[in-house]
Amino acid sequence: MSSLFGHALAGLAISAACTRSRPPRRVWIFAVACAVAPDLDWFMDFFQVSQGASPAHRGLSHSLLAALFIAAAAMLIGFRPQLRSVRHWACMLAAAFSHGLLDACTFGGTGVAFLLPFSNARFVGAWQPIFVSPIPLSGKLLDWLLFSLGTEIVWIGLPAALVFVTPQAMLRLRQRWRRSEEIP
Ligand SMILES: [Zn+2]
Repeated sequence: MSSLFGHALAGLAISAACTRSRPPRRVWIFAVACAVAPDLDWFMDFFQVSQGASPAHRGLSHSLLAALFIAAAAMLIGFRPQLRSVRHWACMLAAAFSHGLLDACTFGGTGVAFLLPFSNARFVGAWQPIFVSPIPLSGKLLDWLLFSLGTEIVWIGLPAALVFVTPQAMLRLRQRWRRSEEIP
């Protein structure tokens, strides 16, 4: 997996992309929760619960179906008045789906079972620039942590910062432009 930090950053960036300015607190909190939620299956690995012959991690909780359920849960819990809002649904769905997508783009670890429960096939990205985050107590923690964090900063952190900062910078520029036009 990308680290929880990387997934949370992706959720934050998606919430910013779905709103015109700084995303409301409720939107970014739920978007981050959707982006992180699929990794709850890590605890199944921790307790050595497996799904038949295939490993539990990156399994059903990382599938497209799970992304739909996670988004629906977020909408029901956090956005009942906006249940018909396409923008809110798109935001939560994109955040939940971003998790599997980022995991598929990590170098190392198993593929992502996007099509469970209909197919056990595991998918990996053709391009895997992000180093898989270290599993605690694996004995390689420091080396992997440095590699993983470095690749996440470049491939998740910088784009997320750009998505987050750009709309606000554009808004400020427009406000300054208007003010300068108003001054005779
Ligand atoms: Zn994951």
